[in-house]
Parts: sequence; C-alpha cells; structure tokens
Amino acid sequence: MAAQYQSPTQSPPRLLEPLPEAPYRRLVEIVGRENVYREPDDLLLYSYDSLLGVPAVWPQAVVRPGCTEEVVEVLRLAQKEKLSVVPRGAGTGLAGGAMPIQGGLVLSLNRMKTIREIDEDNMQAVVQPGVVTAEFHQAVEARGLFYPPDPGSMTISTLGGNVATSAGGLRGLKYGVTRDYVMGLEAVLMGGKRIRTGGRTFKNVTGYDLTRLLVGSEGTLAVITEIILKLIPIPEARRSLQLIYDDVDKAARTVSEVLRQRVIPATLEIMDRLTIQVVEDFAHVGLPREADAMLLVEVDGAEETVERQLVRVLEIARQEGAVDYKVARTEEEKIQIWNARRNSYGALARLSSTIITEDATVPRSRVPDMMRAIGEIARKYSVTMSTLGHAGDGNLHPTINADKNNPAEMARVEKAIEELFQTALRLGGTLSGEHGISLAKKRFMPLAFSEETLSVMRAIKTALDPDCLLNPGKIV
Ligand SMILES: Cc1cc2nc3c(=O)[nH]c(=O)nc-3n(C[C@H](O)[C@H](O)[C@H](O)COP(=O)(O)OP(=O)(O)OC[C@H]3O[C@@H](n4cnc5c(N)ncnc54)[C@H](O)[C@@H]3O)c2cc1C
Repeated sequence: MAAQYQSPTQSPPRLLEPLPEAPYRRLVEIVGRENVYREPDDLLLYSYDSLLGVPAVWPQAVVRPGCTEEVVEVLRLAQKEKLSVVPRGAGTGLAGGAMPIQGGLVLSLNRMKTIREIDEDNMQAVVQPGVVTAEFHQAVEARGLFYPPDPGSMTISTLGGNVATSAGGLRGLKYGVTRDYVMGLEAVLMGGKRIRTGGRTFKNVTGYDLTRLLVGSEGTLAVITEIILKLIPIPEARRSLQLIYDDVDKAARTVSEVLRQRVIPATLEIMDRLTIQVVEDFAHVGLPREADAMLLVEVDGAEETVERQLVRVLEIARQEGAVDYKVARTEEEKIQIWNARRNSYGALARLSSTIITEDATVPRSRVPDMMRAIGEIARKYSVTMSTLGHAGDGNLHPTINADKNNPAEMARVEKAIEELFQTALRLGGTLSGEHGISLAKKRFMPLAFSEETLSVMRAIKTALDPDCLLNPGKIV
C-alpha cells in the first residue's frame, strides 16, 4: 500500500510489498546480484535520509548501477513495471528527498564516483554523481583550482546530491551555490531516455535551459548521471576571524552593515547563545559560553585586498558593539574557528532525540528582523530553538530540539515551524535557501506560490514523468 506523507508527527505505518521475482531477476541481470539489495537491514538503511521525525517506508529493493547504461536499463524496467524510483546520493539531505515514501526502488548512485576529467585550460571538470564533495575539493585544489560550494555535510555528501538540491554552504555569500557552477548535465528520464543539457562553453543560450531546470529538482525530474562543473582560480589569501557579542541583535546588525558597506566576505556565519554553549560543551574549542552571539567571518582574495577587508570588518563590528574578537594567526587557529561551526549540527543533535533544522531564508537586509522573530516564535510556542546559519546570505538555520514521542511538544513545534515560514515569506524571503522542499516543506508550497504557478510546476513534472514514478510525492 502506498504511504501518504501527512506531517512529521504522523504515526509509524510501514509494510512493504516484496519485489516480485521477475523484475528482481531483470535487475540482477542489469547491475549484478551484488548490487541489488533485498535484505531487511539494507532496506531499513535506505528507508530514511537526514530528515528526522518522518516515519520511514522500506523500499522494495536497493539498486546500485555502475554506469549510465545501467541507469537507463533500470529506469526502462521501472517504467514498464510501474515501480517508483528514488535517486540517492549519500542520504544527508534534510528535506526527505531520498526517502522512498511509496516503497519501490532506491537507486543509489554511489558506485558512479569517477572524476572523469579536470580540464585546467578551460577550468572545468567532468564528474560522475557519486563523487564525494570534499574529495572533489581536494582533487581540484591540488591543481590550483577551486570549487566553492561547501555544504556542511561535504565530507559525506555527493556531487549528484548537491546538484539535485543546488546545495549551498559556508562560502555561498561571495561565491554562490551549486547552481552557479553547473555548466551541463547528462541525465536519464523515467522510462530510460538519456539526455544532455548545457555544455562546455561558458556562454550558451542554445535552446531552453534544461540544466537550470534539473539543478535543484531533488530527483523528481531525472536521474543525473554526469556533471560538467565550472572551476575558478583558488584565492591567493584567506583570513578568518571570530566576533563576539553580548546581544544577538548587534551581531545581526553587523551582518547587514558589513554588506551595506560593500564588503563581501567569502563567509559570514552567525551562532546564537545556545549554539555557542552546546558546541563548546561538545567540542571544547574555547568559545565564550557567556556570549549572546558570535559571527565567524572569512575574507579571501588578493593579499592586499584581504588585509583591507579584515580591517574594515573589524571597524564595523566595533561600531556595532562587538565586545571581543579573535583573528586567526595560524592555520591551527583558523581550523579551530571553523571547527566550531562545522561541529554545531552534531553538537546540537546530542541535546534531544529529535532535531529539526530549518532553512528559512530572507533578503540579507532583513536578517536582524528574522533573528528577532525566531526568538519570539521560540518563546511563543515554548520550543527549544537555536539559530546558526549563513547570515551573510540571509540563509538562517533555526534548529529545534524536541522529542518526537511527545505529541504535545511536536504539535507546538509544527506551529512554530509554520510561523517561521510565514515570517520568512512576509519579510520577502523563501521557504528554502538550500535544503530543498521534498517532503519537509511540501505542505508550505501554497504559501509561497499561487495555484497558477504550482500548476506550471506540476505540468513540467508530468511532461517528463507522466506516471509520477520518479521520486513521487515530493515538492509538488
Ligand atoms: C550535518 C549536515 C550539514 C549540512 N549542511 C548543508 C549546507 O551547508 N548546505 C546545504 O545546501 N545542505 C546541507 N546539508 C543537506 C545535504 O547535505 C545536502 O542537501 C546535500 O546536497 C545532499 O547530498 P547527498 O549526496 O547526501 O544527497 P541525498 O540526501 O542522497 O539526496 C538529496 C536529494 O537529491 C536527489 N538525488 C541525489 N542524487 C541524485 C542524482 N544523481 N540524480 C538525481 N537526483 C539525485 C535525491 O533524490 C534527494 O531528493 C547538510 C546536511 C547535514 C546532515
């Protein structure tokens, strides 16, 4: 029976029909017996991703193709047998995109993990979707090149997952998100049609921009099997600093003021009091437990520009009321500053059985308003909500710690989340800056778009996947 997603507090169902023998045998023919999983432990493992609080459905099988031809054959079979297919990278997605909510097949792309080419002359690379993001960073940096998108999950996440979610990261403020680096794709549609979009030229207005359509489509329109990525020169110098505040409002105002004065750091992150305390208790990196907020900043570029930007940021921070600061003098100190940020999700996850990281995003100038609203909403609904995030690009991650077995608390959490999104939209923002919609925010789509706009999205979906078999029940 197909499961219907209703809300994060829905009670656990979960029965699956076993995969009939005929399609199983055909899958084995396509990818080999060792690459089709049917054991309960495997099915359990592939039934969820990093979205918590949603009951999982087991897939009927997990299929691990090794090349595009095998993806084509699997999607051809799935269409014929009317089996749903959920593409999956590393399962670090926070919106439920890799959850097989209707059973069917999980298509794990991890075996397709070759960096096919790093073209130094044209500054671009061709990769398969299963390449781990951080491994790609290392490979291009070894050639003096730079691929900026750096999601917090980059040591595990895959480039295919990053493209399918248009992942952002800490460097999004200056360098943009994954979308800004995808030049072209190879993808396979449900039914097995193989297409190529974009290409290897920097200028390209030939036909509809299908690359942009597929980037961020969260596995609902096509399976991405090859990616052409733009690279840029690696910055000459980088400086990192930590700014401490006794009032979160002053920190938020510093963010707006730095940008208003036309300084664009590579990274401008905010952590509130609760996050600072929890991270310090976990990682012991010397954070000021008594501070109300902290900004973490990295400026990069040519040597002279970096020094000038650093001084300017410090001046603005002092004017706005920073009570202390620390500039990293050594590589070790720099790593310590960024470890604090990169450890924050893991540290917060230790606080409770359930952690929900939201992704509300507002125009940069509205960050102070959004920070204030987050505090008010947390008090109004009595929920434990901390805030960290990419303040410089308006992408905040209010993070709620709760207990999913406490229905009264979860009801308040849901109300708080709804009000968070209503507030973000009222401030001119959006439902998701980088994590995507999938299951987690699907129910809020009518708040963000008119029925006319949603109907266009549905028309695109059904044009490419008429039976709605590819990652069904997500986004629209
Ligand atoms: C600790 C932590 C920190 C994070 N920090 C960030 C951050 O800073 N910025 C950010 O943007 N996100 C962040 N995320 C969310 C997540 O890591 C990203 O969304 C990431 O891009 C998912 O990659 P993945 O390989 O794990 O994809 P998965 O979770 O496996 O899949 C994500 C979506 O992409 C689809 N998909 C995967 N591969 C393909 C493919 N080849 N073809 C078509 N569709 C595909 C799936 O169906 C699903 O809808 C974080 C998550 C965690 C747990």
